[in-house]
Amino acid sequence: MSGGVRIGIAGAGLGGVAAAGLLEKAGFDVVLFDQAPAFSRLGAGIQFGPNVLKILATLDGLDKKLEEISCLPDYWLSRKWDDGTVMAKIPLNAERGRYGAPYITIHRGDLHQAMLDCVSSERVKWAHKLVDFTDDGHGVTLNFENGASETVDILIGADGINSRVREKIFGLDEAVYTGWIAHRAIIPGAAAKSLGADLNAKWWSADRHIVCYYLDKNEDEFYLVTGEPAEWASRAGQLPSSREALREAFKGFHPMVQGYIDATDVVTKWPLKTRAPLPVWYQGRSVLLGDACHPMKPHMAQGAAMAVEDAAVLARCLTELGTKDLERTFRSYHEARKERATKVQSISNANTWLRQPEDPYWCYGDNIYDLTIE
Ligand code: FAD
Repeated sequence: MSGGVRIGIAGAGLGGVAAAGLLEKAGFDVVLFDQAPAFSRLGAGIQFGPNVLKILATLDGLDKKLEEISCLPDYWLSRKWDDGTVMAKIPLNAERGRYGAPYITIHRGDLHQAMLDCVSSERVKWAHKLVDFTDDGHGVTLNFENGASETVDILIGADGINSRVREKIFGLDEAVYTGWIAHRAIIPGAAAKSLGADLNAKWWSADRHIVCYYLDKNEDEFYLVTGEPAEWASRAGQLPSSREALREAFKGFHPMVQGYIDATDVVTKWPLKTRAPLPVWYQGRSVLLGDACHPMKPHMAQGAAMAVEDAAVLARCLTELGTKDLERTFRSYHEARKERATKVQSISNANTWLRQPEDPYWCYGDNIYDLTIE
């Protein structure tokens, strides 16, 4: 059913790379385009829950490879900002058997590289920024900024919050600044250890938080990522910031947090943006996944996870329902995904996840391979 069908994916972020790996494995003729000149090891961390690791396990045992290099926290701690009181202690790998896979924290670049290694290198085309496309009902012609042009049977828009594919289908509509930024920094693991760092903790005050975790098995790098109200006037996706700005924003926080901030060197800040849920994620021969159709504030650490889940469900729909009746295949994909993605989007935007004791099983225990595709 998949033989000979050529699928173009715009965007080699975590969602696009997952789609490429899964669709190539299913026998589709996949080609992955990204505007970036080449892969780069972005200096940030990411958490991936058991719901995603179950999908990565189908990519030549990628789950095992990631387990060898990442940090595997037993618990998630929610701590009170000033005195460190534990407000919630949520089992992660302590209940891995129940969730059905591990929970990892890792350097985003290392995760991205490991996922890219699951896609044949000749299928990945860097320096290909999609500027336009035309769907003539039989195929989609893609036009790139570098002058190249390609024709595919199906276009997947995995091109992030400012998706060109979404814009072409649904019209220009700026993403909404939420009024919050995220500061990000990586400090030496030894500095964190000397302060008695938890493996994975979020320190909460009434209006801001800082999330802190290790990025690797050897605990060489420790990551800080915040959520805080702030003005944002720039059009840039990120800007340099400073240790002083972090100190100012987290004045009065617990001495352990102050110690982390003292150990920072390079600090950046990012505007947190979102969009209202879209009524539908496809049109004609084009379909969206990940931040292109449901961006969110990052406070549930599930944005990329949802992109990978989308990729896996879309791959199943294309494989099991075929490509002859794309309207039906894409409708099934959207039906299968919209409720869960919208639920995660709204909890993540509300920033309430795991602040108090709760059972995260509905999120981490989920297995997209248990879904009935129809
Ligand atoms: P993206 O990662 O945005 O990838 C889009 C890709 O498309 C990029 O490579 C871009 O270069 C490319 N592109 C864009 N336009 C074009 C074009 N016109 N032509 C070709 N290529 C194009 N999620 C988690 O699951 N866990 C976490 O712990 C987590 N932490 C986060 C912390 C912060 C501070 C933030 C901001 C987000 C966090 N997220 C986390 C969310 C996560 O980063 C996103 O949801 C995820 O990256 C979305 O993946 P994506 O593949 O849909 O899009």
